[in-house]
Amino acid sequence: MNNLAIKNRLSWQHIPLYLQIAIALIVAVLFGTFLRVIIPNPDTAVWINHLVIPCNLVLKALRALATPLILLAVLHSFLTASIPGSQGRRLVVFLFTNTLVAILIGLLVANFLQPGSGSSLPAPSATEKVSTTLDPWGLLQDIVPDALIKPLVDNNVLQLIFVALAFGVMLRALKTEQIASHKTEYLVIEQAIAMLFEAVKGILHWVIALVPVAVFGIVAKTIALHGVAPFKALGAFILAVLLALFFQSCYYLVRLYLGSWVSPRSFLLGTSDALLTAFSTASSTATMPVTFRVLSEKVGLRESSASLGVLVGGNFNHDGTALYEAMSALFITQVLGLNLTLPQQLVVVITSIFASVGAAGIPEAGLVTMTLVFTAVGLPTQYIALLITVDWFLDRCRTTINVMGDMTVSCLLDGKKRRAIDAE
Ligand code: ASP
Repeated sequence: MNNLAIKNRLSWQHIPLYLQIAIALIVAVLFGTFLRVIIPNPDTAVWINHLVIPCNLVLKALRALATPLILLAVLHSFLTASIPGSQGRRLVVFLFTNTLVAILIGLLVANFLQPGSGSSLPAPSATEKVSTTLDPWGLLQDIVPDALIKPLVDNNVLQLIFVALAFGVMLRALKTEQIASHKTEYLVIEQAIAMLFEAVKGILHWVIALVPVAVFGIVAKTIALHGVAPFKALGAFILAVLLALFFQSCYYLVRLYLGSWVSPRSFLLGTSDALLTAFSTASSTATMPVTFRVLSEKVGLRESSASLGVLVGGNFNHDGTALYEAMSALFITQVLGLNLTLPQQLVVVITSIFASVGAAGIPEAGLVTMTLVFTAVGLPTQYIALLITVDWFLDRCRTTINVMGDMTVSCLLDGKKRRAIDAE
């Protein structure tokens, strides 16, 4: 590669992803409109359909990465998290209730506002059919896979979580046993899992780097063939998601008011740096050092509460992501003119919980695990392509809520009475 090529590549990479996507969006709108105007009968312009190829490739790569990502995230968390007894139980309760509330808020808002109904999106290709029936008992029976690696091959999130939990618990027990008898064999597995986890996240970065190209293709194609109508529905979806995220932040503040010595006001003032960093990086992992610092230095939590909520919670807890995944599934169902029955919505709740646990704290990770939520209720994953066009913005908003959730948990762990920091 000559110097100029290297220089060009680097300068393009220096443009932040959200800006690249915004540029791709604008160019795609112009190009799509141009195609729509110059081609009188879009049905004859078969080649326009090929514009969707980059998007399909990105989606396929995301689907392929989703299962290893969840598996490795769960195993890695089990092996590396250190959670002391009673604090650990409280932590699990806080994390679980927060995520459950987030999903319920998401489903309530989506059911109530129906952001997807009445809108027309292009139909999915014939390869993926929407399943309108779902048997919860069948799902229960299906939770144990026929073969260990089958969930990885089938992208079956429930089976995958089952396998991941079984291995996670066992590896953790073996590690504890070995530490007690001063053995170190577990380190090999721990390091291998950590390295594979890093590798999958690294490859995910490559795929994410292609998102602007995918956005360009899908938007240009959609506008050329269907005009702007499909995107109008997304406006209502964005507003609904923002409203639901706002409700979730109110819920955190009420929980703080009831269960922590940190007042909602001092929480917001003290943690604003972390919230802004989360919004600007769209990565809760990248924000972790800031989150930890504001909690211990500005809010004044004990170090153990801050680290438990942020480092452990930060790995498992992605309330904003869970809320978003549940809403997206419901939104697409509404767009398709279908109804998710209560048992189906229950499957959305369960898979969203696991999908949010499995989502890494990096930009766009929610999109990866969303493919699993869609697959679980038989929704065509092609529609995720349309969500990609607005994800650069919604990702920032849900990451802010992810980080706010971790910090709320830390404050709740610190208790109702402020204890002297050096009393630890
Ligand atoms: N970007 C989010 C985070 O870092 C994850 C997601 O994509 O939902 O927390």
